[in-house]
Amino acid sequence: MNDTSSTPPQSSAAAQGPLRPARSARFAEALRLAVAEGLLSEQRPLAGFLDADGIRDSVDALRDAFAAEPGARVLHTFAAKAASLVPVLRLLADCGMGCEVASPGELRLAVEAGFPPARIVLDSPAKTRAELRLALALGVAVNADSFGEIRRIEELRSPGSPSVLGLRVNPQVGGGSIGAMSTATATSKFGVALRDPGAREHVVQTFAERPWLTRLHAHVGSQGCSLELIAAGIAETYRLAEEINEVLGTRRITGIDIGGGLPVNFSDDEVRPAFADYVTALRAAAPGLFDGRYDLVTEFGRSLLAKNGFIGARVEYTKEAGGRRIALTHAGAQIATRTVFMPDAWPLRVGAFDGQGRPRSGRTMVQDIAGPCCFAGDIVAHARELPELHEGDFVALYDTGAYYFSTPWAYNSLPRPAVYGFAGGTGALRLALVREAQSLDSVAAESGLRHADALRDLRAQAQGLS
Ligand SMILES: *Cc1c(COP(=O)(O)O)cnc(C)c1O
Repeated sequence: MNDTSSTPPQSSAAAQGPLRPARSARFAEALRLAVAEGLLSEQRPLAGFLDADGIRDSVDALRDAFAAEPGARVLHTFAAKAASLVPVLRLLADCGMGCEVASPGELRLAVEAGFPPARIVLDSPAKTRAELRLALALGVAVNADSFGEIRRIEELRSPGSPSVLGLRVNPQVGGGSIGAMSTATATSKFGVALRDPGAREHVVQTFAERPWLTRLHAHVGSQGCSLELIAAGIAETYRLAEEINEVLGTRRITGIDIGGGLPVNFSDDEVRPAFADYVTALRAAAPGLFDGRYDLVTEFGRSLLAKNGFIGARVEYTKEAGGRRIALTHAGAQIATRTVFMPDAWPLRVGAFDGQGRPRSGRTMVQDIAGPCCFAGDIVAHARELPELHEGDFVALYDTGAYYFSTPWAYNSLPRPAVYGFAGGTGALRLALVREAQSLDSVAAESGLRHADALRDLRAQAQGLS
């Protein structure tokens, strides 16, 4: 154990042992090890990497931030879409977290990962009857996205169902800097739009008539939204809970699910804003939220995983075009989809490494880092000043632990890359396979191989009949 008598630990991670070196040094060690073990090579030119210890530290930071509010009872769930990999979900389940899911596939992954149903929350704007039936049978919490969904739940639920049932509202506090990530705009597709004429009254009436509805849910937005904007949306939701309880004259609403959406700093290694900053913003906007009258649920995704992962990709060739140096790598839109299509909203930092996986230093030059996809915009970093890259080198794309390699895009029939986890102290890192790379057999199978004759035979039959 550390002697912590003179300097109090800043987090439980600090209390467990010497602080790990800065992320970039740790990631450099992981990349060098992956190259040494042949996991990144000419034959395996692309992989995702996740820091299992770092994920644990992020969970501790989240817990500590909310634990600073002694009255609050909080269930922290992880938004499965941010890293839909069973080993990641199992690690988080093992840390005591819950899981937020938004599709039958994510629900299946959460169950396989071992989350108890009482710690699973189902959100999604288009739940089918079959999905609702399964969720209610399992006893997972469900947040209805609309009045239409409330009617379906009413039809399907049995009186003793253990599912906690809530309604998602859209506080309509406005959007952030990325339209596609802003869920609380006036015309957002999510939740019941609270400021529309008559909507608030309709919500209160809906709760008055249904004693089984006990929770409100809001998820204001993700990357690009300020803490103040997110906190304002949660404060609006809190005020609605207070209003409903006052009108009904009873503590009907017992829980508020405040969603996720903490933005991530993509420009350096610092975690900024921290979970503690968000708790401060929430406390300022809605002090009563933490006084113990409401069970709180959180649903963070990107802020828990982004900084704990990176993409490693081999430089296959370099070339010059119009005076610009281009490094052609295997990391493109199939693995960094948002960055390629919206480079200003999702810029990624790039690290340059030699063929042995050692950080490159020396002469820098302006280079584009391009991917393998067959369209001109497939560039993951534009005009970056980096040490000169050569064929056989590797690049690292940082802050990609959430949403990047865990949810690839199948453009050009490019296979899903392998994902590895790493853990351990400096000089003693170990790697483990989290998901194998997709094989070409699998690519063919997913492209209809079993039905290869379907269209040819169909035409032949149709012609025979006519
Ligand atoms: C995507 C999503 C989250 C997680 O968002 P992050 O920005 O990754 O924290 C949480 N709740 C809901 C309903 C979501 O759709």
